[in-house]
Amino acid sequence: MMQTSDILEKLDIPRHKLYYLEQKGYIHPKRVPRGDLEAREFTEEDFKKIQAIWKYLKRGFKHKIAYRKATEELNKLAKEKKETMQIKENQQLKIKGRVVVGQSMKELTSMKIGGKTDLFVVPQDLDDLKLVLSFCREKDIPFFVIGNGTKLLMRDEGFKGVIVKLGEHFKSIKNEGKRTRVGAGVNLSTLIDFTTERGFSGIESLSGVPGTIGGAIVRNASAFGEDISQRVLSVKVLDKDNNYLTLSKKDIGFDYRSSVFLDNKDWVIIEAELELWPRKKEEIVLRLEEIRRKKVLSQPISFASAGCIFKNPPPYSAGFLIQEAGCLGMKIGDAQVSLQHANFIINKGNATARDVLRLIQEIKRKVKDKFNISLEPELEIV
Ligand SMILES: Cc1cc2nc3c(=O)[nH]c(=O)nc-3n(C[C@H](O)[C@H](O)[C@H](O)COP(=O)(O)OP(=O)(O)OC[C@H]3O[C@@H](n4cnc5c(N)ncnc54)[C@H](O)[C@@H]3O)c2cc1C
Repeated sequence: MMQTSDILEKLDIPRHKLYYLEQKGYIHPKRVPRGDLEAREFTEEDFKKIQAIWKYLKRGFKHKIAYRKATEELNKLAKEKKETMQIKENQQLKIKGRVVVGQSMKELTSMKIGGKTDLFVVPQDLDDLKLVLSFCREKDIPFFVIGNGTKLLMRDEGFKGVIVKLGEHFKSIKNEGKRTRVGAGVNLSTLIDFTTERGFSGIESLSGVPGTIGGAIVRNASAFGEDISQRVLSVKVLDKDNNYLTLSKKDIGFDYRSSVFLDNKDWVIIEAELELWPRKKEEIVLRLEEIRRKKVLSQPISFASAGCIFKNPPPYSAGFLIQEAGCLGMKIGDAQVSLQHANFIINKGNATARDVLRLIQEIKRKVKDKFNISLEPELEIV
């Protein structure tokens, strides 16, 4: 506790100014009856407040403005202090893999959009992953697992919590006859190269889908009439209490662009077992070439995007409805409806999540007006 004399001496503020601040209710020091005089006691907080107000008064600001400016300044400092403390707390997470404070989500998504996440972690192995999950559980911090971020729209405000991306241990592939065990962090393209090399077929139609196995299972990735669920035998999961679960195909509830994992966001897929069948390598390669040719012709792959934005409402394709509703090339900010594929929104440079969301609303409105059909986004907004 400081006395009036301490304040006067430390801040070199005239006594009448100090009284005035109290009279106006800008500061509330404690009154201490002492003999027939009433003295004042000031806390460290009072001191900082008076110091900040006095700084502006000395510069000639009026009392009210000096008080407002001082309050803003102190609030800003308090916020920064809180954030620094949070960052320090987050750094207590000691894992072998990467831990990044304030990672931009633009760099983790194919849309190249999004604010910062409090923490981005790449657990290198299962022990790391368990540590991350325990850390989040104990501190009650939200977490979100990403694959390659190719089906996500991350908000401009960023993610308050931990973004988890699986590291090296989760990128192994083992092939025993028709059964292939594949880590959730493996890219679909890597898996296709691996199985093609060994003469196993069944996932060629997913060639060119830029996601991981984890993301492909969660969103039941599909192309040209085939989806990954057709090849899945089982999926191994770690839940947030660090228990292992093995889900058979029927437990996974595969549907169009969805699975049980969309409703259980605290499960982390670790690996999957797929069933593929032997086929001549040359035949697989020919099929892959055909698929890739079709993709290049139909999708704007040279622009940042998150694939198709809306689900197809049977019997129509969303792309057809969007095109017929006159949305082709429609633009808000740097977000544009692709001229090549109407169900793609591309980021032409500096699009924000807000731009994309407004464009989605506009497309929905136009399609509803023209066809009385409500399009449903398949893009996940985080
Ligand atoms: C140019 C382009 C073309 C595309 N073409 C197609 C296409 O033809 N067909 C198609 O279906 N999709 C397509 N997509 C969309 C996308 O690539 C797929 O949906 C893909 O499967 C998403 O995988 P991801 O690893 O990027 O997942 P993310 O987008 O990172 O995540 C998707 C969901 O999976 C969850 N997730 C990811 N990994 C795990 C894990 N290990 N454990 C728990 N949850 C996890 C996330 O939390 C999120 O809910 C395309 C995208 C682009 C950019």
